[in-house]
Amino acid sequence: MNEAQQQLVSRLQPLIAGVMANPLRLPGITCSICTREVQNGDLRCRRCNNDYESNAVPFEFGPPGYQPSPYRTADLVVPLSYALKGHQAYTDLLQYKDTYSPSKAALDRLSVLTALFQACHTWCIDRLVGRLVTDLAILPSLQGRQGLHPLEEIAQYLPRAWRRIQLAAAPNLPSDSNARRQTNPAFFHNTENLHGRHVVLFDDTWVTGGHAQGAALTLRNAGAARVTILTLGRCLDSSWPETASFIRRFNLPMKPYDVAVCPVTGGTCPG
Ligand SMILES: [Zn+2]
Ligand SMILES: [Zn+2]
Repeated sequence: MNEAQQQLVSRLQPLIAGVMANPLRLPGITCSICTREVQNGDLRCRRCNNDYESNAVPFEFGPPGYQPSPYRTADLVVPLSYALKGHQAYTDLLQYKDTYSPSKAALDRLSVLTALFQACHTWCIDRLVGRLVTDLAILPSLQGRQGLHPLEEIAQYLPRAWRRIQLAAAPNLPSDSNARRQTNPAFFHNTENLHGRHVVLFDDTWVTGGHAQGAALTLRNAGAARVTILTLGRCLDSSWPETASFIRRFNLPMKPYDVAVCPVTGGTCPG
């Protein structure tokens, strides 16, 4: 970290240190995609593995040197914090976008979380994926919300160099909210040609990842060479017994939040 980064961290980190919690990236213990707990030393949790394997492409033609990802879901998923149900980080993710009385304190904390990521770890995505990020898409709500979504306000703290592209909810979505939780690229609408681009898809809360991975598939269908999902909070629900024992084992939410822990690797930044 250079001096300017250190100054920013020492001013801003205390604002979120008692609320946010660094996600753990522990092979065989947490999902290599979404960072929730896994069973039996698996690489991925059940839902991520299902989305991953059901979107495999056995072979793709391309120009020499072109190496398409063999899987069409996102190349990388980066949750910035755990959000345990019943704890403040989780509440923040609900209240910042409350239609009737949005919480400014929640919006401020999520903005600080994003700004600190931007200042300290933007390049880590480029390095790990091996391709510079070119574009930014914001995951649209599938709830039919009208007007500017407050996630747009938080997105202004992401790098200006990422070109904004428009991704919208498709018309005629299924009315059943469970059906909308499927991983389905048809739920999203994009008109841009993204051939060869590396798109960051920005989302607030990861529960199953179905929406975000469905949108990642939409971006792939438009030609995106790489897709990274950046999400503010990975929801953990202790009403699942496996999640409850994981939370106990690591005494989550582990505090204080430490910006020096790279959210891309769970440890030091990629070299
Ligand atoms: Zn997972
Ligand atoms: Zn980093």
